[in-house]
Amino acid sequence: MSCKTCQSALPDLLLGTSAASSAAASRVAAARAHLATCAGCAQELASLEATFALLDTWSVPAVSPYFDQKLAVRLREEQAAPPVGWFERLKTHLLLNTGRQFRPALTGALALALIVGGGTFGVTTYPHPQPVKASATVTDLQILDNNEQALQQMDQLLQDDATDDTNSPATPPQS
Ligand SMILES: [Zn+2]
Repeated sequence: MSCKTCQSALPDLLLGTSAASSAAASRVAAARAHLATCAGCAQELASLEATFALLDTWSVPAVSPYFDQKLAVRLREEQAAPPVGWFERLKTHLLLNTGRQFRPALTGALALALIVGGGTFGVTTYPHPQPVKASATVTDLQILDNNEQALQQMDQLLQDDATDDTNSPATPPQS
């Protein structure tokens, strides 16, 4: 077995999916035999195992407690917003529409644009819309969100300090 074949069998070996078929099982057995003789592949396996062990220690960060409120406020604002002009509506429709009725027309229009533009249509830049200014409510929620994050970071720092303090000489108590 070559190193390349062996390394392609490493995921099976790591994840224990070898029982799925006899072909995979014999592949894993061959890989094991190769690993016993090849230091390079053994190192590759060790590195993969270390990566998987590290992934096991990773915990998903908590979602912001204000996420739902912020989303709801943004949705309400979007619903209450004044209707946009016909050009904006058309642009949104063309960008987001996945229906079939426009595809032939769109294809034709793009082909025409390619012919007219001599193939340089792709580099045409559209004017970017002005960034939407967030309302007071959203700004407030964002401030709360930032405060929450700052508090979490401070908690973490304090925890780190607490673990450091056990190893360092005691600091004088603050009055
Ligand atoms: Zn090898």
